[in-house]
Amino acid sequence: MTDDLLVVGGGPAGAALAIPLALAGRRVTLVERTSGPHDKVCGEFVSHEAIAYLAALGIEPAALGAVPIGRLRLAGRRLSATVALPFAAMSLSRRVLDEVLLARAATAGVRVRRGRRVLALEPTATGFSARLDDGTALAARQAVLATGKHDLRGHPRAPGRQNDLVGFKSHFRLAPDEARALAGHVELALFADGYAGLEPIEHGLANLCLVVRRARLAALGGTWAAVLAHVTRAVPLFGRRLACATAIQARPLTVAAIPYGFVSSSADRPDLWRIGDQAAVIPSFSGDGLSMALHSARLAADHLLAGRSAAAFQTQLAAELGAQVGRATMLSRLLVDPRAQGGLLLAAHLVPGLMRLVARATRVPAPALLAAT
Ligand SMILES: Cc1cc2nc3c(=O)[nH]c(=O)nc-3n(C[C@H](O)[C@H](O)[C@H](O)COP(=O)(O)OP(=O)(O)OC[C@H]3O[C@@H](n4cnc5c(N)ncnc54)[C@H](O)[C@@H]3O)c2cc1C
Repeated sequence: MTDDLLVVGGGPAGAALAIPLALAGRRVTLVERTSGPHDKVCGEFVSHEAIAYLAALGIEPAALGAVPIGRLRLAGRRLSATVALPFAAMSLSRRVLDEVLLARAATAGVRVRRGRRVLALEPTATGFSARLDDGTALAARQAVLATGKHDLRGHPRAPGRQNDLVGFKSHFRLAPDEARALAGHVELALFADGYAGLEPIEHGLANLCLVVRRARLAALGGTWAAVLAHVTRAVPLFGRRLACATAIQARPLTVAAIPYGFVSSSADRPDLWRIGDQAAVIPSFSGDGLSMALHSARLAADHLLAGRSAAAFQTQLAAELGAQVGRATMLSRLLVDPRAQGGLLLAAHLVPGLMRLVARATRVPAPALLAAT
């Protein structure tokens, strides 16, 4: 039977799009390659806008154990600066958040196929045909690419404007004093050729997520231990935080070739939609990727339900997010540049309010936020 909509990828964007479509009576199938709860490379910062979009889907991060984040601390070798965030934020592991969104999709009536990977998505006379890794095929009138960081074969994205970074993420249990000092904060550390974020998450753990230039990673020998040593030597605050910390996972998660700065401005076909990281990739220091993913999902759902084209959606989304993504990418280039880092830290140290301005300038702009928020 032909579905109205096939969603490829069950991250926040895919799940958040599928839910309103199914609730509106559309026949929706979502295919997600992981078969159960899983970690993802992410800072796990859930912004004010993301919290509002989640609430509109019936999901309350606080009820899932999310912890409040009210302050941002920027740290380098010698200087640091702390400022109150201009909005309320939270922190929640992706292992919990992504799973809850998929469960919500299933209860909304989405046919969720877990543990299956879409290998190919081809146009047909009536829409699309998808081939799965178990050999089965799915047919749908419209299709959504929500595969996040990974491109589906035959549907590549442009490489982005900052694409030489490798991402790492690992959970830690900090020593009690360090956990207390971190509470309520997201801490951003600048080190040569990269930056790292540390924040508390549920169950008293902390999430460390960082990006480092590929060339620096190679010079360090490519190992996680060497990257950690590089960060903790360069930033004494992180040296203290992690000195007596216990890693929860045996190995960190990694992701390479992140296309920071990519924004899709047109649709490949009128019935093929790109949402989430498939539509726009904002550098991770902004902590706004999730809200952009949820915003794109909500906007796409509104367009689909109103019978508009993918092209109209992609054009509107690019107009809404392009400037923010562009600004964040310019700043992200400076954040990893050892020649610029000293100046950035000094400016933040002298005028901490600048960090609030940056936080405001790198989010989904308020006028674009949809009624549910
Ligand atoms: C280093 C780093 C740190 C970040 N930190 C933050 C942060 O603190 N806060 C924030 O808001 N954002 C952050 N982000 C951004 C955020 O992680 C993404 O914007 C968000 O995950 C995008 O959601 P998505 O649904 O588009 O993609 P994803 O979350 O990547 O989900 C895509 C899903 O598609 C599935 N999939 C892929 N290919 C297939 C296939 N062929 N068939 C079936 N399923 C498939 C995957 O398994 C995955 O579950 C960070 C990103 C990076 C790289």
